[in-house]
Amino acid sequence: MPISKKPQSLLRNSFNFPTFSSLPDEPRIEIDLKYYDSGPFGFKPSQHWCFVGEIVDSIGLVRGLLRVKDKDGQVVTIGLYTDDRGQALAPQIKIGHTVAVLYSEQHRFLDMTVGIRVGDISNIKIIPCSLEQLLKASDDVATLRKGQPRRCGSCGKEENASDNTHLRLCSRCRHTAYCGEDCQKKAWVAGHKADCKALVGVRWFTERNWRMFHDWFSF
Ligand SMILES: [Zn+2]
Ligand SMILES: [Zn+2]
Repeated sequence: MPISKKPQSLLRNSFNFPTFSSLPDEPRIEIDLKYYDSGPFGFKPSQHWCFVGEIVDSIGLVRGLLRVKDKDGQVVTIGLYTDDRGQALAPQIKIGHTVAVLYSEQHRFLDMTVGIRVGDISNIKIIPCSLEQLLKASDDVATLRKGQPRRCGSCGKEENASDNTHLRLCSRCRHTAYCGEDCQKKAWVAGHKADCKALVGVRWFTERNWRMFHDWFSF
Protein backbone atom coordinates (compact mmCIF):
# COMPACT_ATOMS: atom_id res chain seq x y z
CA MET A 1 0.00 0.00 0.00
CA PRO A 2 1.33 3.49 -0.79
CA ILE A 3 2.40 5.48 2.24
CA SER A 4 -0.17 8.17 2.87
CA LYS A 5 0.37 11.47 4.67
CA LYS A 6 -3.36 11.81 5.22
CA PRO A 7 -4.58 11.96 8.80
CA GLN A 8 -5.40 8.60 10.36
CA SER A 9 -9.11 9.13 10.18
CA LEU A 10 -11.67 6.69 11.55
CA LEU A 11 -12.38 4.69 8.41
CA ARG A 12 -8.67 4.39 7.55
CA ASN A 13 -8.09 2.73 10.92
CA SER A 14 -7.31 -0.88 10.03
CA PHE A 15 -8.49 -2.37 13.32
CA ASN A 16 -12.04 -1.00 13.45
CA PHE A 17 -12.32 -1.00 9.66
CA PRO A 18 -10.27 -4.03 8.63
CA THR A 19 -9.69 -5.28 5.12
CA PHE A 20 -10.92 -8.77 4.28
CA SER A 21 -7.60 -10.50 4.98
CA SER A 22 -7.59 -9.15 8.55
CA LEU A 23 -11.12 -10.26 9.45
CA PRO A 24 -11.55 -13.04 12.00
CA ASP A 25 -12.23 -16.53 10.61
CA GLU A 26 -15.81 -17.66 10.81
CA PRO A 27 -15.61 -21.31 11.79
CA ARG A 28 -14.38 -20.41 15.21
CA ILE A 29 -12.45 -23.43 16.33
CA GLU A 30 -10.55 -20.92 18.36
CA ILE A 31 -11.88 -17.48 19.23
CA ASP A 32 -9.79 -14.76 17.61
CA LEU A 33 -8.48 -12.89 20.63
CA LYS A 34 -7.56 -9.96 18.45
CA TYR A 35 -11.31 -9.28 18.20
CA TYR A 36 -12.82 -10.89 21.30
CA ASP A 37 -12.34 -10.69 25.06
CA SER A 38 -13.45 -13.38 27.46
CA GLY A 39 -15.83 -12.19 30.13
CA PRO A 40 -18.06 -13.68 32.83
CA PHE A 41 -20.73 -14.52 30.24
CA GLY A 42 -18.47 -15.84 27.51
CA PHE A 43 -16.73 -14.00 24.70
CA LYS A 44 -17.67 -10.54 23.59
CA PRO A 45 -16.02 -8.23 21.05
CA SER A 46 -13.23 -6.12 22.52
CA GLN A 47 -14.07 -3.27 20.09
CA HIS A 48 -16.49 -2.74 17.23
CA TRP A 49 -15.44 -3.50 13.68
CA CYS A 50 -16.93 -3.09 10.23
CA PHE A 51 -15.84 -4.23 6.78
CA VAL A 52 -16.17 -1.66 3.99
CA GLY A 53 -15.91 -2.38 0.28
CA GLU A 54 -17.03 -0.91 -3.03
CA ILE A 55 -19.46 -2.84 -5.23
CA VAL A 56 -17.72 -3.91 -8.43
CA ASP A 57 -20.30 -6.42 -9.65
CA SER A 58 -23.86 -7.29 -8.78
CA ILE A 59 -24.52 -9.88 -11.48
CA GLY A 60 -25.36 -12.48 -8.88
CA LEU A 61 -28.02 -10.35 -7.23
CA VAL A 62 -30.77 -12.86 -8.02
CA ARG A 63 -28.78 -15.31 -5.93
CA GLY A 64 -28.07 -12.63 -3.32
CA LEU A 65 -24.41 -12.26 -4.22
CA LEU A 66 -22.34 -9.09 -4.54
CA ARG A 67 -18.70 -8.65 -5.48
CA VAL A 68 -16.93 -5.91 -3.55
CA LYS A 69 -13.39 -4.50 -3.51
CA ASP A 70 -11.89 -3.68 -0.09
CA LYS A 71 -9.35 -1.01 0.95
CA ASP A 72 -6.49 -3.31 -0.16
CA GLY A 73 -8.07 -3.81 -3.58
CA GLN A 74 -8.99 -7.44 -2.82
CA VAL A 75 -12.29 -8.45 -4.44
CA VAL A 76 -14.48 -10.75 -2.36
CA THR A 77 -18.05 -12.06 -2.44
CA ILE A 78 -20.75 -10.89 -0.06
CA GLY A 79 -23.55 -13.43 0.26
CA LEU A 80 -26.90 -12.06 1.40
CA TYR A 81 -28.51 -14.82 3.45
CA THR A 82 -31.07 -12.49 4.98
CA ASP A 83 -34.73 -13.59 5.03
CA ASP A 84 -35.42 -11.71 1.79
CA ARG A 85 -32.07 -12.58 0.17
CA GLY A 86 -31.22 -8.91 -0.02
CA GLN A 87 -34.29 -7.79 -1.98
CA ALA A 88 -34.89 -4.83 0.37
CA LEU A 89 -31.38 -3.62 -0.47
CA ALA A 90 -31.76 -4.12 -4.22
CA PRO A 91 -32.67 -0.50 -5.11
CA GLN A 92 -29.48 0.76 -3.42
CA ILE A 93 -27.20 -1.85 -4.94
CA LYS A 94 -25.21 -0.14 -7.70
CA ILE A 95 -21.70 -0.60 -8.99
CA GLY A 96 -19.56 2.10 -7.38
CA HIS A 97 -21.54 2.28 -4.15
CA THR A 98 -20.01 1.21 -0.84
CA VAL A 99 -21.14 -1.70 1.32
CA ALA A 100 -20.52 -1.77 5.06
CA VAL A 101 -20.91 -5.00 7.06
CA LEU A 102 -20.69 -4.91 10.85
CA TYR A 103 -18.77 -7.67 12.66
CA SER A 104 -17.83 -9.42 9.40
CA GLU A 105 -15.99 -12.68 9.43
CA GLN A 106 -14.18 -14.61 6.72
CA HIS A 107 -16.53 -17.20 5.27
CA ARG A 108 -15.88 -20.04 2.85
CA PHE A 109 -18.84 -20.52 0.51
CA LEU A 110 -19.85 -23.97 -0.80
CA ASP A 111 -18.11 -23.30 -4.13
CA MET A 112 -14.91 -22.64 -2.12
CA THR A 113 -14.82 -18.91 -2.89
CA VAL A 114 -14.15 -16.75 0.15
CA GLY A 115 -16.18 -13.82 1.30
CA ILE A 116 -18.59 -12.55 3.89
CA ARG A 117 -21.89 -14.18 4.77
CA VAL A 118 -24.56 -11.70 5.91
CA GLY A 119 -27.41 -13.29 7.85
CA ASP A 120 -28.93 -10.24 9.50
CA ILE A 121 -30.16 -7.26 7.47
CA SER A 122 -29.36 -4.89 10.36
CA ASN A 123 -25.64 -5.66 9.90
CA ILE A 124 -25.42 -4.37 6.34
CA LYS A 125 -25.72 -0.89 4.92
CA ILE A 126 -25.15 0.54 1.46
CA ILE A 127 -23.78 4.06 1.20
CA PRO A 128 -24.43 5.86 -2.10
CA CYS A 129 -20.84 6.93 -2.80
CA SER A 130 -17.56 5.27 -3.74
CA LEU A 131 -15.22 3.86 -1.10
CA GLU A 132 -12.67 6.57 -1.91
CA GLN A 133 -15.29 9.30 -1.37
CA LEU A 134 -16.32 7.74 1.94
CA LEU A 135 -12.68 7.60 3.10
CA LYS A 136 -12.18 11.20 2.04
CA ALA A 137 -15.30 12.22 3.99
CA SER A 138 -13.85 10.45 7.03
CA ASP A 139 -10.61 12.46 6.58
CA ASP A 140 -12.60 15.69 6.26
CA VAL A 141 -14.40 15.02 9.56
CA ALA A 142 -11.08 14.21 11.26
CA THR A 143 -9.48 17.41 9.96
CA LEU A 144 -12.37 19.52 11.25
CA ARG A 145 -12.12 17.86 14.67
CA LYS A 146 -8.50 18.93 14.91
CA GLY A 147 -9.87 22.42 15.49
CA GLN A 148 -8.81 24.12 12.30
CA PRO A 149 -10.80 27.30 11.66
CA ARG A 150 -13.86 26.82 9.51
CA ARG A 151 -13.52 28.20 6.00
CA CYS A 152 -16.00 28.70 3.23
CA GLY A 153 -16.09 25.47 1.19
CA SER A 154 -15.94 27.47 -2.01
CA CYS A 155 -13.91 30.71 -1.71
CA GLY A 156 -11.95 29.73 1.40
CA LYS A 157 -12.93 32.80 3.43
CA GLU A 158 -12.48 32.28 7.18
CA GLU A 159 -15.21 32.82 9.72
CA ASN A 160 -14.58 36.23 11.24
CA ALA A 161 -16.95 38.13 13.49
CA SER A 162 -15.14 41.46 13.09
CA ASP A 163 -15.73 41.75 9.33
CA ASN A 164 -19.16 40.10 9.56
CA THR A 165 -18.20 36.89 7.76
CA HIS A 166 -20.60 34.30 9.07
CA LEU A 167 -20.49 30.85 7.56
CA ARG A 168 -23.56 28.70 7.24
CA LEU A 169 -23.46 24.92 7.20
CA CYS A 170 -24.83 22.88 4.31
CA SER A 171 -28.22 21.74 5.59
CA ARG A 172 -27.73 18.18 4.30
CA CYS A 173 -24.29 17.15 5.58
CA ARG A 174 -24.03 19.78 8.36
CA HIS A 175 -20.30 19.70 7.65
CA THR A 176 -19.25 22.01 4.84
CA ALA A 177 -19.80 25.72 5.49
CA TYR A 178 -20.30 28.61 3.07
CA CYS A 179 -20.08 32.39 3.30
CA GLY A 180 -23.16 32.82 1.15
CA GLU A 181 -25.63 31.34 -1.28
CA ASP A 182 -23.50 32.05 -4.36
CA CYS A 183 -20.56 30.11 -2.94
CA GLN A 184 -22.86 27.28 -1.90
CA LYS A 185 -24.41 27.00 -5.37
CA LYS A 186 -20.99 27.13 -7.06
CA ALA A 187 -19.60 24.41 -4.77
CA TRP A 188 -22.63 22.16 -5.28
CA VAL A 189 -22.08 22.11 -9.05
CA ALA A 190 -18.30 21.85 -8.66
CA GLY A 191 -18.56 18.58 -6.71
CA HIS A 192 -20.11 19.06 -3.30
CA LYS A 193 -23.18 17.20 -4.56
CA ALA A 194 -21.18 13.95 -4.48
CA ASP A 195 -19.06 14.83 -1.42
CA CYS A 196 -22.23 15.72 0.48
CA LYS A 197 -23.66 12.19 0.09
CA ALA A 198 -20.39 10.75 1.39
CA LEU A 199 -20.38 13.18 4.35
CA VAL A 200 -23.97 12.24 5.20
CA GLY A 201 -23.03 8.55 4.86
CA VAL A 202 -19.93 8.78 7.03
CA ARG A 203 -21.73 10.49 9.91
CA TRP A 204 -23.26 7.24 11.19
CA PHE A 205 -19.70 5.93 11.64
CA THR A 206 -17.96 9.03 12.97
CA GLU A 207 -20.53 9.77 15.67
CA ARG A 208 -19.98 6.40 17.37
CA ASN A 209 -17.25 5.21 19.73
CA TRP A 210 -15.66 2.19 18.03
CA ARG A 211 -13.12 1.55 20.77
CA MET A 212 -15.54 0.75 23.60
CA PHE A 213 -17.81 -2.26 23.31
CA HIS A 214 -20.98 -2.15 25.40
CA ASP A 215 -23.56 -3.56 23.05
CA TRP A 216 -23.68 -4.55 19.37
CA PHE A 217 -24.16 -1.76 16.85
CA SER A 218 -26.82 -2.25 14.19
CA PHE A 219 -27.69 -0.20 11.13
ZN1 LIG B 1 -17.40 31.82 0.00
ZN1 LIG C 1 -23.39 19.07 2.20
